[in-house]
Amino acid sequence: MTAGLATIPLAALQALLRQRGQPAWRAKQILDWRNKGVLDPAAMRNLPAALRAALPEWLRCDPFTCVARQQSVDGTRKYLLQLNSGNNAGKRIETVYIPERERGTVCISSQIGCPLDCPFCCTGSQPFDGNLTGDEIVAQLLHVMDDLRRHPLDNGASNRVTHVVFMGMGEPMSNERGLHAALKALLEALGISRRRITVSTSGLVHGIARLGKSYPVNLAISLHAASNPLRDRLVPINRTFDLTRLRASLDDFPLPAQRHITLEYVMLAGVNDRPEDIEALAAFVNRRRERVNLIRYNPHPASHFTGSSSAQIDAFAHQLTARGIRTTVRRSRGDDIMAACGQLNSVLESR
Ligand code: SF4
Repeated sequence: MTAGLATIPLAALQALLRQRGQPAWRAKQILDWRNKGVLDPAAMRNLPAALRAALPEWLRCDPFTCVARQQSVDGTRKYLLQLNSGNNAGKRIETVYIPERERGTVCISSQIGCPLDCPFCCTGSQPFDGNLTGDEIVAQLLHVMDDLRRHPLDNGASNRVTHVVFMGMGEPMSNERGLHAALKALLEALGISRRRITVSTSGLVHGIARLGKSYPVNLAISLHAASNPLRDRLVPINRTFDLTRLRASLDDFPLPAQRHITLEYVMLAGVNDRPEDIEALAAFVNRRRERVNLIRYNPHPASHFTGSSSAQIDAFAHQLTARGIRTTVRRSRGDDIMAACGQLNSVLESR
């Protein structure tokens, strides 16, 4: 069994049903449920009982069991999902839902852990344990949609998933097969606009080029330093793809009108928030095509870094703005539930 309900296109599901003696029109009913986030055939009430029972034998339906769900006072929800079949059976990943009044963003994982070892990152401090399939990536989004449908937020925030960001566990571009399969399904099978999808990478330049050619969605770069010596330390992939190569790949990335590449910059006290860091960043940014997003650091027990103070972040932002760089400061969300990627899993595993 290779096909998964989360990503199967209509024509493929129709063919599968026909092969098994079922009317092809049932495929539309099944995908109407899937597109609402329902991956459990038992909950597809308009299907005959025999078909509901048979579907999990014909294609992989819900790949996850939710082993923990936490909700922040601000409505942010974090899910610890355990894979229940396939090559990754028994392994766990994290998915986060971040609601605002008018939009809801799902932050999805692309790998189990991460092979890239950025020293400030909680996921990077955990062992890398494999790639997710496209189906397992998309199923995270569907799982959140289903949860919001069954247990809506009651604080006035959005219960509708409008945006998807690949910013959970893992480096999406070191799992290109899973990434591209997931993007194909998100864009074509689920009909999500490419303007509402963002892939974040630490800077694998070949992957950036292929993404631009195949799926030109929004691009975010985990930059965190704009000089090679510091970035070699903070984002070790920089030793392979340095800032000159990253610069060239960003300049080549196709951008629709009015869109920008986002340069993510986590603020680490005394490390990358100094005056020379402002100058390096100002020299790196292409002001016409890029903007900087400053991120408050979410400390975790395995890290020896501390976050810059709010005053330091504001001063840093002010200095960048004064140099003509579009700069935003990301509001911290879900602090009380350890919403930085990798934190929930590491806390549960240390119990
Ligand atoms: S910051 Fe991103 S690329 Fe670096 S270790 Fe963490 S998850 Fe991996």
